[in-house]
Amino acid sequence: MQHSETQSRQESSPVISSHEETTCCIVCGGPAGAMLALLLARKGIEVTLLEEHSDFARDFRGDTVHPSTMEVLDQIGLAERVLQLKHTEARVLELSDPQGEAVSIDFKQLKTRYPYIALIPQVHFLECITEAAREYPTFRLVMGARAEKLLEEDGYVHGVQYRAQDGWHELRAVLTVGADGRFSRIRKLAGFEGVKSSPTMDILLFHLPHQEDDPAASGGKLDLGQGHLLVRLDRGNEWQIGYTIAKGGYQVIKAAGLEKLRADIGKLMPDFADRMQTITEWKQIAVLSVESSLLKRWYRPGLLLIGDAAHVMSPVGGVGINYAIQDAVASANILTDYLKQGKVPTSALASIQRRRELPTKLIQSFQRLMQKQILGRALATDEQPRLSRPFWLLLHTPFLRLLPAHFIAFGPRRERVRNP
Ligand SMILES: Cc1cc2nc3c(=O)[nH]c(=O)nc-3n(C[C@H](O)[C@H](O)[C@H](O)COP(=O)(O)OP(=O)(O)OC[C@H]3O[C@@H](n4cnc5c(N)ncnc54)[C@H](O)[C@@H]3O)c2cc1C
Repeated sequence: MQHSETQSRQESSPVISSHEETTCCIVCGGPAGAMLALLLARKGIEVTLLEEHSDFARDFRGDTVHPSTMEVLDQIGLAERVLQLKHTEARVLELSDPQGEAVSIDFKQLKTRYPYIALIPQVHFLECITEAAREYPTFRLVMGARAEKLLEEDGYVHGVQYRAQDGWHELRAVLTVGADGRFSRIRKLAGFEGVKSSPTMDILLFHLPHQEDDPAASGGKLDLGQGHLLVRLDRGNEWQIGYTIAKGGYQVIKAAGLEKLRADIGKLMPDFADRMQTITEWKQIAVLSVESSLLKRWYRPGLLLIGDAAHVMSPVGGVGINYAIQDAVASANILTDYLKQGKVPTSALASIQRRRELPTKLIQSFQRLMQKQILGRALATDEQPRLSRPFWLLLHTPFLRLLPAHFIAFGPRRERVRNP
C-alpha cells in the first residue's frame, strides 16, 4: 500500500531533468505532426517534434500518398525528392464482384501533375519529411520522447512533460499540437472524446511475395467475394493485402484455422492462391480494428488537435494520411503569423477546426457510403455481395465517373501552402 502510494506520487510529480522552451511543441512524428513541423520550420518558427518511438518504422500504417499530398509537396519543392523514394504508382483501382461486374476508379484523367496514388512506405516518407525539416535551424526532433502530461495553468495549456530515455523533461511552448494519432494521449489528457460512427468491419493485413512475371507496378485491385472485400496493393517488391472481416470476427476466423483462411482468400484471388502458402503463422497477419470518429472540439486555449487525434479515419479510400497532411497545411497557414508574434488566440484554433471539420465530415460520410454501397449487407450476412446499381451507374456515366476518383484524390477542399 505504502509502496503504491509512493509510486503514484512519483508518477504524478516526476523529477524533471531539463526545462526547455519552444514556440510550437508538436506531439508527434506521424504525417500530420511531421508535415506541420516542416511547414513551420520553413517559416523560421521554432518547433520541437516529440516522437515516442526511436524510429519511424511502422508496418501496415498506410502507404497511400494521394495527389492532394503530392501537390503540397510540389509547392514546397519536395515532390521530386519524395518520388525518388522507392514507390509504385496506382493509376487505376479495379473493383470486381463475383457476378463478373467490374468497375474502375481511374485517376489518370484527373487534372494534376500527379494523377495517381503513390504507394510509398510510410517509414521512408516520414524520414524524408523530417530530413527536409532538419535543414532548418529552428527545427528540433526528439525521438524516443513520450508526451505524458499537459502543463496547464489558468485553463491554458503551456506545453508538455515528456519521458525520454534519460528521464523526464518539461517543454514549454506558445502552442502545443496533439497529432498523436488514433489512440491520442493528448486528446485524453485534454478531456476530449470523439463521436464514433460505427464501421462494421475490421481488416486483416499481410504481405505476399511479388513474382517476376507480375505486371510492373500495376497499382491496386479490389475483389468482392462471400462476405469479404479483398484489396491488393502493389508495393513493387511485395503485395500488401487487406481482407475485410466482420467487426470483431477475428477470433472466429482464428478458431477455424489458418488452412481455412488461406483457402477462403485463395478463392477470392485464384491467381494468388499459391502465394497464400507463404502465410504459415498468425503473427504474419496484423488485425486492424477499423474505427471512425470525430471530435466535437479540436482545441483548448494553447492546445490544438489535428490528424487522427481529432478524427480517426477508416481506411476506406486510403485517405487518412492525406487528411492528416491537409490539416497540417491549414494549421500552418493560419498559425504562422500568430506564432511569429508569440501569441495564438483561441479564435485562430477555432478557425482551423471550422476550415477542416466540414471536409472531414464529408469524407467520413463518403467512406460510410462506399462501405455500404460496395459491401452492402455482405459482411453481416455472408451473402454474395455485388456492386450496387447506383455505384455501378456512377462509374459508367461519362460526366460522373471521375467524381469518386476526384473525391478520393483531393477531397472536397484542397489545402494549398500559403506563400510557399
Ligand atoms: C493498419 C492501418 C492501415 C492504414 N492504412 C492506411 C492507408 O493505406 N492509407 C491512409 O491514408 N491511411 C491509412 N491508415 C490511416 C492512417 O495511418 C492515419 O489516418 C494517419 O497515419 C494519421 O496520421 P497522424 O499523423 O494523425 O497520426 P499517426 O500516423 O497515427 O501518428 C501518430 C504518431 O504519434 C506517436 N505517438 C503517439 N502517442 C505519443 C505520445 N504520447 N508521445 C509521443 N509520440 C506519440 C506515434 O508513435 C505515431 O508516430 C491506416 C491506419 C492503420 C492503423
